[in-house]
Amino acid sequence: MKMSLQGIGMTSRRTRERMVARLGVQGITSNKILDVMRNTPRHIFVDEALSSRAYEDTALPIGFNQTISQPYIVAKMTELLLEFGPLSKVLEIGTGCGYQTAILAQLVGHVYSVERILPLQKKAKNHLWDLKLKNISYLHSDGGWGWPDFAPYDGILVAAAPSEIPEMLLDQMAVGGVMVIPIGKGSRQELQRVVRKENGFEIEELERVSFVPFLSGRE
Ligand code: SAH
Repeated sequence: MKMSLQGIGMTSRRTRERMVARLGVQGITSNKILDVMRNTPRHIFVDEALSSRAYEDTALPIGFNQTISQPYIVAKMTELLLEFGPLSKVLEIGTGCGYQTAILAQLVGHVYSVERILPLQKKAKNHLWDLKLKNISYLHSDGGWGWPDFAPYDGILVAAAPSEIPEMLLDQMAVGGVMVIPIGKGSRQELQRVVRKENGFEIEELERVSFVPFLSGRE
């Protein structure tokens, strides 16, 4: 096993235990999700120089002007996505460093993860492989197109904020499917949950959030 996976010092299980206790205080109630976050090393997804800060409730830089989402946001989005029942196929837009992917992969049948910055996705892939998470497929693409080949999805989680919900993502939702997505420009964003019904979409507006912008094209 790699040194980085062993959990030494600040990266230990005890530090993670504190993170999970904090998530409980912040209102995360799903024990299943808390258990997965307790058992998933977060420090391996950030640069070594930042690994001592990996369990703080903060977003951290992962290169290419992007950030790893704070633990609370990862937990909250996962909880909102899974609230109505288990999911078999989840589309994730914005693999980033792969931490959210790791959490999802342990809670749903299969994760289809799309990222527009190739080097980020390659690194994420390696870390997820080290964790032996194999129920993940990767696509280097602009997530605004979704991933039509495997649609429809019963869950979609978007980790970057567009100014409105991309139409292609709505098209790729199964009836009964759930999407969690930050919407808005600059610092004025809110988390929304969309549920696809037989005859349309139901949208809930949730809390204020701060995500990196949803960009088009690939790098
Ligand atoms: N959950 C990730 C979040 C990373 S930040 C983590 O914890 O690491 C959001 C990611 O979305 C970035 O990696 C960014 O490159 C990616 N992104 C932004 N717009 C995108 C788009 N249109 N298609 C695919 N990925 C996108």
